[in-house]
Amino acid sequence: MSGKIQRVRGTRDLLPEDSLLFRFVEESAYEKSLLYGFGEIETPIFEFSDVFHRTLGETSDVVNKETYDFTDRGGESLTLRPEGTAGVARAFISEGMSQNLPLKFYYSGPMFRYERPQKGRYRQFYQLGAECLGYDSPLADVECISLAWDLLQKIGISNDCTLEINTLGDSESRAAYRDALVQYFTAHQDQLSADSKMRLEKNPLRILDSKDEGDKKLNINAPKLEQYLNETSQTFFKKVLAGIERLGIPYKVNSHLVRGLDYYCHTVFEFTTAKLGAQGTVLAGGRYDGLIETMGGPRTPGVGWAAGIDRLADLTPRELAVKSEVLIAVIGADDLGEDESVKVAHEVRSRGLKVENILSGKMGKKMQKANKLGAHYALILGSSEVQGQQVTVKNFGSGEQTTISRSELATFKFSI
Ligand code: ATP
Ligand code: MG
Repeated sequence: MSGKIQRVRGTRDLLPEDSLLFRFVEESAYEKSLLYGFGEIETPIFEFSDVFHRTLGETSDVVNKETYDFTDRGGESLTLRPEGTAGVARAFISEGMSQNLPLKFYYSGPMFRYERPQKGRYRQFYQLGAECLGYDSPLADVECISLAWDLLQKIGISNDCTLEINTLGDSESRAAYRDALVQYFTAHQDQLSADSKMRLEKNPLRILDSKDEGDKKLNINAPKLEQYLNETSQTFFKKVLAGIERLGIPYKVNSHLVRGLDYYCHTVFEFTTAKLGAQGTVLAGGRYDGLIETMGGPRTPGVGWAAGIDRLADLTPRELAVKSEVLIAVIGADDLGEDESVKVAHEVRSRGLKVENILSGKMGKKMQKANKLGAHYALILGSSEVQGQQVTVKNFGSGEQTTISRSELATFKFSI
């Protein structure tokens, strides 16, 4: 690096106007999660590399190309978390929580993936998510989707989003389907991308998720999972769909939806939008009954989802996030007034009101600044007000100006 210090590619600075939206999204999600009985969990930002490498599967894009792996000064192989579920599962096992099932967790925080940066795709990005552990019932899947839908409604973007859903079936159905895929893709092996040739051996299902144009063409005529679903898998999927219908959540079955990670079974779903260009998936999830066992824990069913906060915030209408609240400017008209202004500002703030103490410029400039900030009131303090234990209140809306005593100020009604 030379010259000016720069931001690392793929990272962003969240300025106050961005943070306002992020916080609104996170607070909305947190609030809704509590209503559904999901408690907040915060796992470390880095874990032993195995936590991710073992669970996400060595053929997934995330593990192959996207993780930030490093060796720390003690020689440990560590990885910055690329997603939240593996960390939650690790915590579940290492904290010995299996006696307390069912358990429901909410989380939010930064994730790290070495990806090609573009709009809506960053190397440090933010996710919030929900995980429900211990329920075999398809209604747990429905509850998770219901929580996601409530969140999208609360932040004003549900009309821009479509729920796409599919089933991967249970392990028996998947094994049968896998065989059919291997047969099909082996017959067309010469047309597969290099990545997919590798997937063919390790995890042929993943080929269906490929973004390579040649693979996509082959995928059109690939066998469909529907034909290989056993009775159990079909019943499970029907129950999920019926539950979603009962809640009135619009959805589309998308038989191409497979999701990138190894540990999914039965339900997979995504909420997508046409409003964010290529980066159209805002929330994605599914059932992962095999995950905890893969990590060395007891067999524990699970279902959950994660949403990209960067993308949700991009869609959220700003006016929903901005609280309409009264803004009061404090203006010291001379030295004595300025000195007293901090005390007056403090008194009014202690009532829970928002106060901007304007600290520079002459009287006229200060009034202009107050106007520019959109203040509804100005509290003006000059020597005469200070000496008389008074303050002048100007209402910018009506133009009215009155001088009141400082004791009256304590209960003065400021309204917009
Ligand atoms: P994509 O197909 O966009 O790469 P993914 O399948 O890798 O998505 P998940 O691992 O399911 O994504 O993550 C859940 C959500 O997190 C995504 O739907 C998206 O909203 C968000 N997300 C994932 N990667 C990024 C990123 N690099 N930058 C911003 N948001 C991201
Ligand atoms: Mg990705």
